[in-house]
Amino acid sequence: MVTRRSLLSFALVSAAQLRTAAAQSSLKSSASDSSELTGKIFLRGDTEYEPLRQAATWNARKPNRFPTAIVLPENERDVIAAVKMAKSRGWQVTTRSGGHSFTGSHTRDNAVQINLARMKELSVDAEARVASVSPGWKCGPFNNVLREKHGLMFPVAHGFDVGLGGFVLCGGHGWNSAVLGLGCENLRGLDVVTADGELIHADEKQNSEFLWAARGAGPGFFGVAVRYYLDIHPQPTYVRLNQYVFPLDVADDAAAWVDSTRFPAFMEPVVAYVIGKDGKPVFAVIVVSFASSQDEANAASAIMSACPIANKAMVKTVDAPAIIPAKSEAEDAFIVPTGGRFTVDGAYSNASLAKMVSLLREEMASPPTPYCNFAIGRWKPIGKVKDMAYSISGQHYFSAMGVSYDPADDERCAAWLERMIKKMTPIATGAQMNDENMPVNKLPYLSQEVSARLEALRAKYDPDRRFASFLK
Ligand SMILES: Cc1cc2nc3c(=O)[nH]c(=O)nc-3n(C[C@H](O)[C@H](O)[C@H](O)COP(=O)(O)OP(=O)(O)OC[C@H]3O[C@@H](n4cnc5c(N)ncnc54)[C@H](O)[C@@H]3O)c2cc1C
Repeated sequence: MVTRRSLLSFALVSAAQLRTAAAQSSLKSSASDSSELTGKIFLRGDTEYEPLRQAATWNARKPNRFPTAIVLPENERDVIAAVKMAKSRGWQVTTRSGGHSFTGSHTRDNAVQINLARMKELSVDAEARVASVSPGWKCGPFNNVLREKHGLMFPVAHGFDVGLGGFVLCGGHGWNSAVLGLGCENLRGLDVVTADGELIHADEKQNSEFLWAARGAGPGFFGVAVRYYLDIHPQPTYVRLNQYVFPLDVADDAAAWVDSTRFPAFMEPVVAYVIGKDGKPVFAVIVVSFASSQDEANAASAIMSACPIANKAMVKTVDAPAIIPAKSEAEDAFIVPTGGRFTVDGAYSNASLAKMVSLLREEMASPPTPYCNFAIGRWKPIGKVKDMAYSISGQHYFSAMGVSYDPADDERCAAWLERMIKKMTPIATGAQMNDENMPVNKLPYLSQEVSARLEALRAKYDPDRRFASFLK
């Protein structure tokens, strides 16, 4: 039965819908008249909006936050238009490159999300050893081009699909970083759209404060990076995967062996706790080596063969030729199943691996799901760049993943991580921006001095706080 009440509410809803449609069309036309955003801007209520919002975040745990608009620029003119539009409307701006932020920090309420996925320029000057690349490029495909076409590499993320944009801006522990430096230490310069919608170039000589911030400030960066100029390096001749997979009761001995072994910088030792296909937890020592000569390759095999507990390994892989990063290898080795619901956190520490493993023993006995895992790697930066926003580190980096396929498990996964971070806190030097979990993990991500300088620069270059900054 049609009542007065239902007619009234229908009329109110229709009026509201008309107002929203009118506002959307005025927004789009005002944006497109001045800024060529037609077909590239999507507002809440548009059919494309929600699929785009969801797809922006790699993690299956989608943020419960809703940007006012999503813009898919095709070039830097579109980025300028989007920033100017946000400025004229008083909205904030966030940038999404590869969407791998575990917290989905690129997705905020009352902000324009600028999603750089469509911007895919790449040019390589092999002689000058520099790549000019859009931040929307993913690490694996970027490195494939460098390796296959030029015999070169960049210290890209271990995950194949991670975006260069966030990886470099947050610091970036990449393959062979102990030799080549962090991702951000290999950022020579960048092109940035500023809070005023101006396109500038930043390097050591001009606008150098933008370069300083881009080397580690992560979501605290006050601009949209539209192009990176990256140092690229010769691809090592012998890239080899070594791994020993031990039963969990050998974890202490395995950690002690890694602690006491002098791995040269071109060998990257990581220990990992994962649950095997048979449901039993295992403790693996994974060492990828990037040898540039036969002598180095021989030295690496000698170190691996001298492991005194090798006979206790259930799986042994020594000297297996590897392509890094390769989609399947990265996923198998680091257990980051695409499609999982991730809660991720981490801590740097100067403590020994043995100490860290002993603190985690209880939690290893009771993971909330069989997909949960953690890894501890030797990641101390080499100090290639002395003064940059990246300012917290440690001898080891502990990174833990609570993973599930059922929303009902999310809280237990988050609690597992929180317990582990609490145990690490007394020995921690801080947290890492690439795994930032700022709403929960209150360890420092930047030194006090750097935080103060970053805020002063924000006041200078982004006084209206157009860029959304850290998710807290
Ligand atoms: C499977 C997997 C593997 C990983 N492996 C590693 C690893 O080996 N080493 C490591 O260090 N980290 C690793 N990470 C973490 C990863 O480096 C960070 O999450 C990084 O921020 C992802 O970059 P993105 O461009 O994909 O993310 P996005 O979510 O697109 O960006 C993250 C944040 O960076 C800022 N941002 C991104 N692009 C721009 C830009 N162009 N201009 C301005 N601001 C921008 C924004 O604030 C954004 O919220 C991994 C993550 C995953 C999911």
